[in-house]
Amino acid sequence: MSESVRLPVLSVKSLSVAFGFDKNGAPRDGIPPLQVTDKVSFDIYPGEFFALVGESGCGKSVTAMSILRLLPQPSARIVEGSVLYGADGEEGRDAALDLAKLPLADLQKIRGSEIACIFQEPMQALNPVVTIKKQLLEVFRYCAKKESGSEEKAIREMLALAGFKDIDRVLDAYPHELSGGMLQRVCIVMALLPKPKIIIADEPTTALDVTVQAQVLAVLKEMAGRTGTAVLLITHNMGIVSQYADRVAVMYAGRIVETGPVRDVIDAPMHPYTQGLLAAIPESHGDMRTMKSIPGSVPHARDFAKGCRFADRCERCASGNAELQAMCRSAQVPPRVFADNSTQHETNCFALVE
Ligand code: SF4
Repeated sequence: MSESVRLPVLSVKSLSVAFGFDKNGAPRDGIPPLQVTDKVSFDIYPGEFFALVGESGCGKSVTAMSILRLLPQPSARIVEGSVLYGADGEEGRDAALDLAKLPLADLQKIRGSEIACIFQEPMQALNPVVTIKKQLLEVFRYCAKKESGSEEKAIREMLALAGFKDIDRVLDAYPHELSGGMLQRVCIVMALLPKPKIIIADEPTTALDVTVQAQVLAVLKEMAGRTGTAVLLITHNMGIVSQYADRVAVMYAGRIVETGPVRDVIDAPMHPYTQGLLAAIPESHGDMRTMKSIPGSVPHARDFAKGCRFADRCERCASGNAELQAMCRSAQVPPRVFADNSTQHETNCFALVE
């Protein structure tokens, strides 16, 4: 493999997920399944911090959880697309694995050890009646990469990296004896112990006090950077994206509407939805009376419009001519438009087609 070629560690291609199936894969009660994500595509490269951002109900978590097929069964199914893991040629595999089709027994070997998850609620992710030490040691029992004899040393090193000072106290504690921020840092350590290639962090700071959110994200960024682990961060917060992510995909109503390096997207957002999310970031000393919001709300999947799903909330469409408005509400998906082909900063919008 040429050294100059940078290959993604994870490549999500045209992924569509629907809900409403029975255990035989047929529509439940004869009602047509509801498709909640539509041809979602993005690549994540080794060691990068990639953010998937959008309001609640945009399909971010469904997309993230479908990577490891952790969606509720039998209701949810991947109806189209692939999730290619290991496309970077490492892990001794000849070709990427399609996690969307991999037998469950093989996928189970990848869950946790090669692709780990950090969830919103650390208190629910940990067992309340088992000490932190026992729970961290359990990781070695289940993950593929065992380090016999050096488990506790590895745990102590990781806890120190996560900023813990009194490591003995943390190891002997039960979850209820630690704060939310400490528990989430324990979950980060737990996720990183097997040295995964990717961590999926689904709104990891939403349940925490604002004062510790930055601390937890800084620990995640620092530790993932040191171990070369790529992070897929799910968030609704553009402020977090601008501070921590390398690249971002903006999601609206089940579709990716803009992708690119964070600096490009922040400095020159192309899609009106991205512009709205950025305008809605509160300034620490700003006037709350002038705080901006995007009018309306994300539609339910059963109400997704034909054409551009953002049309009902889009000022660019509302102020455009009749021809643009007709295109926005046609049955066509808005075309891809590149701001910069070399950085792959792209969006989907009829108004930007030259
Ligand atoms: S395609 Fe139309 S509705 Fe959609 S973002 Fe562009 S202008 Fe707005």
